[in-house]
Parts: sequence; structure tokens; C-alpha cells
Amino acid sequence: MKFADKVVIVTGGAQGIGMAISTAFAREGAKVVIADIDAEAGLEHEARLREIQPDARFVPTDVAEEADVRRLIQTTWDTFSAIHIVVNNAGIGSRGTLWDRPMAEWDRVIAVNLRGPYMMAKYAAPALVQAKPGVIINIASTRALMSEPHTEPYSASKGGILALTHALAVTLGPDVRVNAISPGWIEVSDWKKSSARQTPVLRPEDHAQHPAGRVGRPEDIAAACLFLAGPEAGFITGTNLVVDGGMTIKMIYEE
Ligand code: NAD
Repeated sequence: MKFADKVVIVTGGAQGIGMAISTAFAREGAKVVIADIDAEAGLEHEARLREIQPDARFVPTDVAEEADVRRLIQTTWDTFSAIHIVVNNAGIGSRGTLWDRPMAEWDRVIAVNLRGPYMMAKYAAPALVQAKPGVIINIASTRALMSEPHTEPYSASKGGILALTHALAVTLGPDVRVNAISPGWIEVSDWKKSSARQTPVLRPEDHAQHPAGRVGRPEDIAAACLFLAGPEAGFITGTNLVVDGGMTIKMIYEE
């Protein structure tokens, strides 16, 4: 019970990587608040988490909306009188191409993926400073470091979150440690609300292109989160932990 009595907010915590992160913290005794825009997924996962840790709670939240973020932080504070750890995991991809993408798409991706984590940090900061040490973990992406065509809004939002991470680490240190995790290819099919669950379709070559020999799992990111949130990471702040099975360090070469 490494995180017994710790209060942890996980945005986008109802499905995918966030579902694995919230589950991992609950298994270590934490009081977990899942903040998600999807009420069906949120309520379903809240019930599952309560079987592990009875204090788990779902708060419907759109992280792009300032009023929602303020209500989430206030509700968490009113319920538990503390916030120790914030995991900014909620994120969306970008659709369309450079040629046809409406500007509203850029605005929405930046609002969810970058404005959201900034507002979470801004409004949770007083409680995190009191927690001493408080912890913020921002889920970025290897797309902050490398791109395929037409991912501009997503890549820019994830590059921005890396800069936000070191800026916050400087502002909030030494009371709050702030780090990012950049996942590579993570297969989330098994970690969806029951109405959306699908059988994962992965080819042997998908695994083979990773030096680690496989595509990532949400549990891999949850394990990195627990490490960065715990006392073993007490001297780590402002950094980016790439968790990608070696995908981004592999050179193009011929056998
Ligand atoms: P997912 O779509 O499976 O789950 C995202 C969750 O966030 C969902 O429950 C969704 O309802 C919620 N959400 C979406 N918009 C929201 C909003 N505005 N406010 C609150 N909640 C919202 O996604 P995932 O694959 O688990 O990704 C989680 C994070 O990891 C994202 O930030 C994503 O960019 C990042 N990431 C994922 C991968 C991957 O391969 N899956 C790789 C790199 C980075």
C-alpha cells in the first residue's frame, strides 16, 4: 500500500491509459478521483475502483472548461481535504489534414491537451504545495519528439506539454515535483468501457519494430506513473520519461 491515504486525481481516468493509472493507484491504497468527460465510462470505472478502494470517486469533467476544472478541484478538496498527486492524462488526437482541417479542430486539441493540464496545475497548485511533496505527472507522447504527416495540432500540444512541465517544475519547486511521461505505441483496446471494448488487432511486425520486442500496454505507463509519484523519484523533476519500448531510439537501417 505504497500510496495509502494519498489523494490522486487522474484526468481521462475512465478509459485507456488513464484507467490503468487510476487502477494502479487504487491498488496501492490511494483515494482516486477520476475526472472524465465520458459519464458512462466514468460511472462504470468508479464502481470497479470502489471494489478495490471504497473512497474512489468519479467527477464528470471536461478538462478544457475552466469551470469544470475549478469544480473538480473544489469537490476533491471538500471531500478529502487534500490533493497529493495530479495525473494530467486526458488527451485527444487530431483529425483531418493540414489542407482541410478547420481551425476549430486545432483549438479543441490545444484546449484539451495543453490548456487543460495548465488549468489543472493552476487550480490544484495551492493544495499540492500544502501536500509537500505534491506531484504532477503530465502524459505527453513520443509525437512531441517525432511525427508522421498531418499530426500538427496533436504534436504541438504534446511538445507544449513538455515545456509546460519544466516551467511548472521551476515555478512550484521544491514543494511540487512535475514530470512528463511520453508513451509510445500503447494498445488500449482492453481498457475501454464495456460498450466500446474491441479485440486488439496487432501484427507480429508491429511488435518487432520495437527494440523491447512488443507494443506497449497501459500497465507500462501506470508503472512509470507510480515510480514518478513515489519517494524513489524524489530527485526527479522537470524531466520527460520516454516509455516506448525503444521505438524512438531505433535508427533506420537495412538487415
Ligand atoms: P483513450 O481515448 O483511450 O482515453 C482517453 C480518456 O480521456 C477517455 O476516457 C476520454 O473520455 C477522456 N477524455 C477525452 N477528452 C476529455 C476531456 N476533454 N476531459 C476529460 N476527459 C477526457 O486515450 P489513451 O490512448 O488512453 O490516451 C491517454 C493519454 O495518453 C492521452 O493524453 C494520449 O495523448 C496519450 N498517449 C496515448 C498513446 C497511445 O498509444 N494510446 C500514445 C502516446 C500518448
